Amino acid sequence: MNILITAKFGGTSLADASQIKKVAEIIKSNPARKFVVASAPGKRFSDDIKITDLLYKCHSQAKNGEDFSATLTKISERYAEIIKALGVDFDIDSEIAEIKTKLQSGTTPDYPASRGEYINSKIIAKFLGWPFVDAAEIIFFNEKGLLDENTTFKTAGEKLKSLEHAVIPGFYGAMPDGKIKTFSRGGSDVTGSIIARSVEANLYENWTDVSGMLSADPRIVQNPKVIDYITYTELRELSYMGASVLHEDAVFPVRKAGIPINIRNTNKPGDNGTLIAATLPKDIEKRAVTGIAGRKGFSSIRVEKSMMNGETGFGAKLLYIFARNGIPFEHCPTGIDTISVVVSSELFDRKREIVLREIKNELDPDFITIEKNLAVIAIVGEGMVSVKGMAAKVFDALAKAGINIRMIDQGSDELNIIVGIDESEYNKAINALYDKMIA
Ligand code: ADP
Ligand code: ASP
Ligand code: MG
Repeated sequence: MNILITAKFGGTSLADASQIKKVAEIIKSNPARKFVVASAPGKRFSDDIKITDLLYKCHSQAKNGEDFSATLTKISERYAEIIKALGVDFDIDSEIAEIKTKLQSGTTPDYPASRGEYINSKIIAKFLGWPFVDAAEIIFFNEKGLLDENTTFKTAGEKLKSLEHAVIPGFYGAMPDGKIKTFSRGGSDVTGSIIARSVEANLYENWTDVSGMLSADPRIVQNPKVIDYITYTELRELSYMGASVLHEDAVFPVRKAGIPINIRNTNKPGDNGTLIAATLPKDIEKRAVTGIAGRKGFSSIRVEKSMMNGETGFGAKLLYIFARNGIPFEHCPTGIDTISVVVSSELFDRKREIVLREIKNELDPDFITIEKNLAVIAIVGEGMVSVKGMAAKVFDALAKAGINIRMIDQGSDELNIIVGIDESEYNKAINALYDKMIA
């Protein structure tokens, strides 16, 4: 069987010419890697600025009537350095001039932001001697700004399958009127998944700067273990909860087609990385805990009313108040006379007065208590369901570290335990849980 791989390379993997050369070697070392999705140049060192961030800065400067030429020059100089070191023939000045014209005529932020991947992919295509295919010609959004899957898979599939190889820029596509629209930040992962699905690849490789999905955030836990195998479901939980190595939406296109994802390290191409699939290989046992991830910035709104459980529809009415104010809920642990709704603080703070007034008027509660500065941590594992005492372990780990649990919830699929703690204890809690449940 002819194996076909779609390989996506992230910002750090393409941050400068020496990284791009490594990437070219990886690509050429396996002829199955026929379709390559590229990010914009990312950080070369920790306080470097991503090209995408510079492009957004140009846009906000232009919008505020400020001079953006110094920022645009920085972008142009970074590309010029790459072009020179790779020895390719590329007219960066005309690309930059076009961005400048668009910025002056008042564009949306999406257009300039997309140029980071657009220009980088064109340069990489030249360096590889491969065709460049613009994402705006093969990835389409509908009027609502949602991916038009059918048109995209069909158009991208037909176009790419007619080519031997191609480099495709990540992060964006086109609206029905042809205007550029980007995915949310980190969205080149989504493009990679879409391309893998469209060309019916056997594997979607996602190359980054770590040797796979780690069982905890490496910026918080020292040397966390690499997860060798993980299911789409576990990965989705972890990435939604903040394990930022892969965009939370990147699993969907490939998952439907059963295409596995392999997260690999551009700087250590010999490492196997993490394999993500629908089920684990037969000889691998399900782990009780596969990984831990979390996010800050939540508030819990706790509503108390005696005899609440006898009042049909109380929970539904409460959640509807949040829904009609545009605030999705993250968790909703309930007791006999209490119900808490955990929501993003940012969204809640915008509508706080209205929401509280509506709860008082429509539900007549005894008390409403608001807890701010909440961090939510998920302990995720498909094998958790068959292990006794998991919650006890979580309590024990946090109690020993002197951390107060402010909320606990278990997902209905028994795939995760969720705890809410004070944001100030976030790093301590992640480390305590990692030591007890994974290390
Ligand atoms: P790329 O630019 O290649 O898309 P990202 O910066 O988006 O890379 O994602 C990789 C980074 O994700 C890592 O450098 C790491 O700091 C961070 N990260 C956070 N949580 C995890 C995790 N659980 N496993 C691996 N990396 C993680
Ligand atoms: N360059 C974009 C960003 O910085 C998309 C990506 O790298 O995935 O968010
Ligand atoms: Mg990324």
